[in-house]
Amino acid sequence: MSMKEWINLNPKTWKLYESVKEDLKEPFKKIEEIEEYNSAKVMHAFWASKISEMHFNSTTGYGYDDIGRDAIENVYKEIFKTESALVRNQFISGSHALAKTLFGLLRPGDLLLSITGLPYDTLHEVIGIKENESSLKSFGIHYDQIELIADDFNYSKIAQYLEKNKVKLIALQRSRGYSTRKSLSIDKVAKVIKVIKEKSPDTIVMVDNCYCEFVSKLEPSEVGADVVVGSLIKNLGGGIASNGGYVVGKKKYVDLIAEALTLPGEGREVGPSLGANKSFLQGIFFAPSVVASALKTNYLASALLTKLGFTTDPHFDEDRVDIVLTMTFNNPEDLCSFCEGVQTGSPIDSFVKPIPVDMPGYDDQVIMAAGAFTQGSSIELSCDGPLREPYIAYLQGGLTYNTAKLGILKAVNKIIEKRENNE
Ligand SMILES: *Cc1c(COP(=O)(O)O)cnc(C)c1O
Repeated sequence: MSMKEWINLNPKTWKLYESVKEDLKEPFKKIEEIEEYNSAKVMHAFWASKISEMHFNSTTGYGYDDIGRDAIENVYKEIFKTESALVRNQFISGSHALAKTLFGLLRPGDLLLSITGLPYDTLHEVIGIKENESSLKSFGIHYDQIELIADDFNYSKIAQYLEKNKVKLIALQRSRGYSTRKSLSIDKVAKVIKVIKEKSPDTIVMVDNCYCEFVSKLEPSEVGADVVVGSLIKNLGGGIASNGGYVVGKKKYVDLIAEALTLPGEGREVGPSLGANKSFLQGIFFAPSVVASALKTNYLASALLTKLGFTTDPHFDEDRVDIVLTMTFNNPEDLCSFCEGVQTGSPIDSFVKPIPVDMPGYDDQVIMAAGAFTQGSSIELSCDGPLREPYIAYLQGGLTYNTAKLGILKAVNKIIEKRENNE
């Protein structure tokens, strides 16, 4: 059987795919160049950390003397070029790692400032933007935010603000989350950190790096960030880690975060790895290649949808900062068709039809497609969007390009067939 027969596409979909192949060559070359660089970076970290089979062993109970866990943290230190790292399965997710970072570093009376406008949804109750009895606000920690302007930092307003206020910690989120702004390139991050450090060298700069790891050659800690935080069910888990989060940065800060994660006095010395060490090591080992696959999948979807008359953000020919693609469908039918198609082309639960449902915290129904090995893993091909104007969906992930491609082709096929049936 031919590939065409295996995947059973409408001839129009196949033709469309053939028509974009040439356009993909140039962006793929760029992606592969970054993948090559980051693969060398990871291998260097493995060599420098002298990783061996004994590091796959793990601890139970308190988790004292977990040499595998310590070696993994050394690998992360090497990759991010930081003094310290905390890479733990006791972090439930990226959101939890971000929450622990804020609770670890902020004290009553301190001021937290976001310079990328409203932070990611899961942080609203953590900070107290949305009321919660256990928020930072409930402990007397103040919060303020400065909006982005023209998809960039408001450099002058940030500088003025730092002249007038004593800011303990600046939070900076690179990926757009569920907003429609642009994600922030490493060059812009470098520029704003320089502005901050000139005005207020003691202010801690914390970067939410979710979805951005290994998309570029440099990470925020290499351009002056004090603390960098992310999720292991995204880029750096490589689709292998079953949960977890990481925090890397200056030792004095990472130590404080460890005390908040476990308990004061024990900090980073405890935390059993419970069998996760090998998967964390394999995850980071695969991560540069998995991120490259997710980026190729992103470009393919962008190319096909653009030809069908939809808009994507980033546009096809824009450089990527993260692995997320925003797709505007302008009608609920195409949005749902696309999600159904992604589900049909997933390795797990391909026979399930996603339907829009009510979700806590959302005013509109949301449709989600994800046929993943790990629950909620968004480094695996996944797609979701709320059913409201202008019918936007977010696409991310793809563990291998050649499998994720099938999800995208099936998604586009659903839209094409629906159009044909309506003719
Ligand atoms: C996904 C994400 C988070 C949270 O990570 P989880 O592992 O899903 O909790 C935080 N910030 C941004 C920008 C994200 O994209």
